[in-house]
Amino acid sequence: MTTGDRYLDDPSFRQPMENSYNEAPDDVRPGRAGARPPYKAEQGGYCNAAATCSSVTQGNAGEVTLQAPPDGTVLSYHTHQSEGRPVDIPNGRLKAQGKPYDRFGKGASQPDIDNAKDRGVTTYIIRPKMITRIDPDGTPHHYKRFE
Ligand SMILES: [Zn+2]
Repeated sequence: MTTGDRYLDDPSFRQPMENSYNEAPDDVRPGRAGARPPYKAEQGGYCNAAATCSSVTQGNAGEVTLQAPPDGTVLSYHTHQSEGRPVDIPNGRLKAQGKPYDRFGKGASQPDIDNAKDRGVTTYIIRPKMITRIDPDGTPHHYKRFE
């Protein structure tokens, strides 16, 4: 897997990010419980230069809250398992009645870009098929996840 990105091409950084995506718990809150496939809670964390990565797991299908990066942080990451899916599924139904449901956006949200700037570290968003990197100046870059 060669993206040309130093952290994505280094398994010691890449694997913890992939694990965070793959091991996320279900979001079983009302409005999402019962969906098939289940909604997953966003997760995220930070890695230092030695590829020691923390993982924060108290997210939900729409967000994960990270504290300020610890000293020595070289990157931040979080997951977006729900992109393109309806934000809520009233009564457990996935079919919209009358008007379309709001859906989770694809790629970086404005809060994602603002947070990357505030934290001053490179941010990675692990998505179903893509990985988006946001540079500390807010510039996004997109990579195919499985190539
Ligand atoms: Zn995000």
